[in-house]
Amino acid sequence: MQAEIISNGDELTSGKILDTNSQWLSVQLADIGIAALYHTTVGDDLAAMIDVLRIAVERADLILWTGGLGPTADDLTRQAIAECIGVPLEKNEHSMQLIQEIFQRRGREMPKANEVQAFQPRGSKPIRNPHGTAPGIDLTVTRSKSVKGRLDFFRIMAYPGVPAEMKEMWQDSGQQTIQKMLDQLTGQKRVLRFRAIHSFGLGESQIEAMLPDIINRTHEPKVGITANQATITLRIVAESATEEECFKKIEPTANLIYNTLGQLIFGEGDDRLQEVVCRKLNASRKTLAVIEAGTRGLLAEAIASSKEPPNCFAGGIVLPSKQPIDPDEMIRRGRRLFNVDYLLLVGAYPIGRPDRNRTEETFVAVIDARKTDLQESIIALQYYPYVGHPDIIDDLYIKRAIDLLRKIICYTSDT
Ligand code: AMP
Ligand code: MG
Repeated sequence: MQAEIISNGDELTSGKILDTNSQWLSVQLADIGIAALYHTTVGDDLAAMIDVLRIAVERADLILWTGGLGPTADDLTRQAIAECIGVPLEKNEHSMQLIQEIFQRRGREMPKANEVQAFQPRGSKPIRNPHGTAPGIDLTVTRSKSVKGRLDFFRIMAYPGVPAEMKEMWQDSGQQTIQKMLDQLTGQKRVLRFRAIHSFGLGESQIEAMLPDIINRTHEPKVGITANQATITLRIVAESATEEECFKKIEPTANLIYNTLGQLIFGEGDDRLQEVVCRKLNASRKTLAVIEAGTRGLLAEAIASSKEPPNCFAGGIVLPSKQPIDPDEMIRRGRRLFNVDYLLLVGAYPIGRPDRNRTEETFVAVIDARKTDLQESIIALQYYPYVGHPDIIDDLYIKRAIDLLRKIICYTSDT
């Protein structure tokens, strides 16, 4: 089955807002095993809207549309669908009643303009909108002549543009509706499951070179590789009759990835480095404070944003980047202010004596704050050349720091 997503609105084509709906819907479709081949964006112009719809029904079987279902004159989706298919708009009494009820609950009289939201192209079904006035449109049309490579019907499902409403409606009914259609088409029930394994420390091409056979289009199950702010994710996808079978299919590939990448892997699914580190610290009842120079508090922010309970995190010191500070002084200040097990440092200047050859380097360090001797208290210290795109360099140092701590607390035996 071929899918196309169409987003509609002048605010999108004019560049005022970003089309996040298409992105979100594509991810949802992928989760049930449908790849969207096209994303189309069209302004609030009836002729143009009919045009893109006409093209879409020729090249796709499932068309997900968002936007243009509101009550105002520039909301033309109902009309565009009706005109493209060649059917009239008809008032749906049930939808009318639901819209009126929403206004009653809000204690307001329904404006006349909202009446139009109860109109549907003939032959379509309204899609329930639990918290908004605009119902969606679900219309299946049998093709009058067959199109090569297409099913003998196409289905248009139109949702409001408001992201919260669109998402709620998708979760309320959209996903199940399409899953059911797929099951009917294939004559069997099938599910799609995936595992996303995250690594940090090497680049995308290095990881790919380590796993040449599995990141290969013909490999079963399929493995995709993506890079996001220096985190490399391997996503293994399997399709089967049951969830259990899917995960069974995935397992050997996942094991191979774990065996090859080892400590480079920090987690799966929703985990980020900070979740992994905080979980481990919480479990071993250890505490942490951060001291950062040049990263504007981003390290503290990253740790604080962990979805794990914040028990382990005592706080941080944010130092300016332009003033050289003796790293020993950083540690002393940290000790004075925090009674913790670990200090995590990001420094704008090399630790120790300034060294001409190292002026372009920045360090990350993990300090055992229970040890009094300064030199002895340094558990790990890594220098990195200060190079990289300005937009991501701070983030990179923060991740390096958290990752260094992760390796120590997850793989060193005395913690
Ligand atoms: P509409 O249903 O077209 O009236 O859209 C209502 C509002 O939802 C717009 O003003 C946007 O703020 C937002 N919106 C519409 N389409 C999108 C989209 N594709 N992605 C993100 N936000 C959207
Ligand atoms: Mg609009």
